[in-house]
Formats: sequence, structure tokens, C-alpha cells
Amino acid sequence: MAVYNQAESEHIFIGKLEHGADLLEELTGVCEEKNIRLGYVVALGAVRKARLGYYNQETKEYKFFELNKNLEITSLSGNISLRDGQPMVHAHITVSDSNGRTFGGHLAPGTIVFACEFIITALSGPQLTRDHDDQTGLPLWKI
Ligand code: ZN
Repeated sequence: MAVYNQAESEHIFIGKLEHGADLLEELTGVCEEKNIRLGYVVALGAVRKARLGYYNQETKEYKFFELNKNLEITSLSGNISLRDGQPMVHAHITVSDSNGRTFGGHLAPGTIVFACEFIITALSGPQLTRDHDDQTGLPLWKI
């Protein structure tokens, strides 16, 4: 059975990321700077290269892979909550190459921005924090 809270939109931040920045670190930096502890993020643009993760459900470990080419960000969506008391952006991304082939996965540090436009919606409501979940091995929300 689903467990959930109710939240309200509080502030919306819309902007662009710096060329050459680390995509995940820069989004996290905005959250730290604006003290966003709960929310969601969407973005689009392009990257110089991407580093993505795939969670192996059997071994309960992430496999990370790099795409060392220029790619479009066709979709990025993520959420913001707290892990170890700090804002954590958990985002998944889909990128496409010059032939329209797409790749996707868990956004990892090492994805470098060519250009990126983002919208972060900060929410007010019960704080969600991440903690180790034995069943999945993942740091999931405690609700
Ligand atoms: Zn993920």
C-alpha cells in the first residue's frame, strides 16, 4: 500500500546552469544555496558527456557507465529530500545522440553541462529523509 504525505508548492526557481559544470553537483548547489529541503526538479538542454547509473536489483549495487559524447538532455526529472541532513537531488535522465538513440539512468556525478535550463519547485510539507532500506539496499524515504 502506498504511503505518502501532502505538500504544497512554496517557491519556484527557474534558471540555467553554467557551461562546464557538473550537472548533479550544480543542481544540488542551488538547493543548498536556497535551502530547498523538499521539492522536485525538471531540466533540459545538452551535456558534453554523461555518467549514469543502473541499479542491479540482484547484487544491490549500482553499475555506473559513461557516455563520452555530446548528447541532448531529452528529459531530466528528480526529487529533493534530505540525506544525512543535507539536500539530496535524486534525478533520472534520458539523453539522445546525433541519431536520436536514447540512453537513460540514474544521474551520477560526472555528467558535464553544455547548456541546461532547469526549474526547481520547492515544497513545504512534512520533511522526507532518506535512510537505508534493507529490502532494496537503497536509501529510501522514511514516511
Ligand atoms: Zn535513481
